[in-house]
Amino acid sequence: MRDVVIIGSGCAGLTAAIYAARGNLKPLVIRGLEAGGQLTLTTLVENFPGFPKGVQGPELIELMQNQAAVFGAEFKEGNVTRADLSKRPFTLKFDSETVEARTLIIASGASAKLLGLDSERKLLGHGVSTCATCDGYFFRGKDVAVVGGGDTAAEDALFLTRYVNEVTVVHRRDQLRASKIMQDRLFHNNKIRFAWNSSVTDILDPGQGEVSSVKLKDVKTGAENLKPVAGVFIGIGHSPNTAIFRGQLALNDTGYIVTHDGSKTSVPGVFAAGDVQDHIYRQAVTAAGSGCMAAMDAEKFLEAAG
Ligand code: NAP
Repeated sequence: MRDVVIIGSGCAGLTAAIYAARGNLKPLVIRGLEAGGQLTLTTLVENFPGFPKGVQGPELIELMQNQAAVFGAEFKEGNVTRADLSKRPFTLKFDSETVEARTLIIASGASAKLLGLDSERKLLGHGVSTCATCDGYFFRGKDVAVVGGGDTAAEDALFLTRYVNEVTVVHRRDQLRASKIMQDRLFHNNKIRFAWNSSVTDILDPGQGEVSSVKLKDVKTGAENLKPVAGVFIGIGHSPNTAIFRGQLALNDTGYIVTHDGSKTSVPGVFAAGDVQDHIYRQAVTAAGSGCMAAMDAEKFLEAAG
């Protein structure tokens, strides 16, 4: 039986672990499928306070994990596949283990969304990627497409210009959603082109087991054309990792956990932090802040429960 179990090991989960461990609650962190969260898929983080020269995402995560370990947090690899939140203590199953928790902090984050094309699924890992920082290197000197118009797509496109010959940003509208500073960087980069008002309707060629082009459709005229590329990076946002809590916790229309009064969820004793409950800010620093809140809320809950 654990006082605090934390699901997820990104910024939110690790900050919760630092606070809970420092509060002598000996938290168990179950690291999850995408251990370290989205910062491990990025490079330079320029907006996390305290690092005027920026910090590499994976390094920031490692520092946080070390900090939690200093105070006695325990880490286990694994992915929670079942959770029973109907009674306390809560029961969680991960891999072949079962753990009971007096309080639970859910910081399971959000995962990259896909377009939903058959060819995209077939070519994932064979020219289609959701992680420019992981896979960009494989496309040295080639032409690639990045799908999306938000900060993820902008960051991916800029990152890819380090390696590739040309990046075409494919966006379904004629205006980017990305922040102003990222837009400026895109518009001033001579390796970046735009396919405005365009959607990807197919990716060729699953038969060859590699990407040779994308089929683009002009959403205004309906005209289609093939754009030769060697890689397609999908940067259209994320969906929350909440499948195992469906029917047990209040979720919003898009599946994010609904929190109130800080990090409280609809089940007393269950708290949520980071991207799993935040589809608006989704920054490393806001995730960290909400992880702190969740640990403090869990501590108060345990005190009150006696
Ligand atoms: P986002 O802001 O929701 O943008 C998703 C983009 O993908 C939008 O441009 C959207 O088009 C497009 N899109 C969504 N579904 C699509 C589909 N099925 N087909 C084609 N296009 C589709 O998501 P995000 O870029 O992942 O950013 C999420 C949050 O994280 C934001 O708050 C962002 O600021 C933050 N973030 C920050 C940084 C940074 O600070 N360095 C980096 C990454 C992310 P529409 O515009 O038409 O909706």
